Amino acid sequence: MRIHGPVFCICALLALSTTAVKVDYTSHMVIRVSPKTEEQIKFLSDWESTSSIDFWSRAATTKTFTDIHVSPESYKHVAQILLDKKLNHKILISNLGELERQEQQEIALRRALYNDDKAIDVENYHTYEEVMAYLAELASTNPLVTTMVAGSSIEGRDIVQATISSDLSANKPIAWFDCNIHAREWITAATCVWIIDTITTGYGSDPEITALVDQYDWKFVPIANPDGYAFSWTNDRLWRKNRAVNPGSVCVGVDLNRNFPVGFGGTGSSNGPCSETFHGAAEFSEPESITLKNLIAADAGRVKTAISMHSYSQLWLSSYSYSSALPAEYPEMLRAMRAGVDALTATYGTVYDYGSTGTVLYIASGTTTDHYYKNEGVVHSYTIELRDTGLYGFELPPRLIVPTAIETWNGIKAFINAI
Ligand SMILES: [Zn+2]
Repeated sequence: MRIHGPVFCICALLALSTTAVKVDYTSHMVIRVSPKTEEQIKFLSDWESTSSIDFWSRAATTKTFTDIHVSPESYKHVAQILLDKKLNHKILISNLGELERQEQQEIALRRALYNDDKAIDVENYHTYEEVMAYLAELASTNPLVTTMVAGSSIEGRDIVQATISSDLSANKPIAWFDCNIHAREWITAATCVWIIDTITTGYGSDPEITALVDQYDWKFVPIANPDGYAFSWTNDRLWRKNRAVNPGSVCVGVDLNRNFPVGFGGTGSSNGPCSETFHGAAEFSEPESITLKNLIAADAGRVKTAISMHSYSQLWLSSYSYSSALPAEYPEMLRAMRAGVDALTATYGTVYDYGSTGTVLYIASGTTTDHYYKNEGVVHSYTIELRDTGLYGFELPPRLIVPTAIETWNGIKAFINAI
């Protein structure tokens, strides 16, 4: 057989189409488990750390839930294990694939209807490239905005920080945000982009925003995990980790929010590369976590608050996350969180819980929030888990971006004014 040019072309096309094949989540479900005893909570936590089962949320107390994503094939097996432990479950989401199709349809419809002249519609979900184009446009058209490439991901994508400042030379205190460190949590980048847009358009006309920008420099890393985020658009909507190749394993990715040093390798993280909470080979083994570390360290002494945006659960969380112990400044943290949550809830009635991660949510070792607090001295270091509480989970429809962003921004404004 002779090899002709056209044969090569077809091969190349086939290769392209295989890389673009998306994971199909048709008939995949999310089930909710309600543990009733400490023993059951511990069992669920150990199970997550030692398996590749995709936990969507974790119960820290008998008042909260553990949500687990199951394939149609794994459902029977998982249900049997739960039954053996006398754990009841109910089906929370019955078809993740259908939810994803609805989400994509809504994104496409909104795109078709968009007719503004900004680079992107900040009320919709966007790819990594689109968000970067928006930030570049903003930096070139709005004198308040500068961007910097703070680092590079494993696959070579830029990790970009956007700064909004009315006077860079003044060295003001900083309100700092990392968003979308977990790839599938799309609402977090969308909320950060919406807030950037709201601050930049409101400065000079909205007195409250003007005062907040005159008082603080606002810094955002809208997509802290660019490779994972890109992969969640092209290949796997439910991808969580970065895209590190793990030596000796077929499983890809490190959970970046377990790759920080405080309590590294401890409870709530896994040493198995196939786990969704794999902490990596060593603390700061990943370029993405090193980049966040460097950004906070570069502004040492100026970072008044550092907030890591996550979803879902509707929680405002402080340190510690690696243990159930409470930080010395906990009363002050509680006061600030309460101010934020009260204003957030007052917006549309969205109920949030707040407190230390280790007591309200679950023990998670090696997180950003504990690092910013314990190693960088940022007292007001928090994780905010945005909407919802499991109806859509990570696949929050685009129509809920604006209400989520508005209430979150109201919470952040009240919180900032309280600290
Ligand atoms: Zn997360």
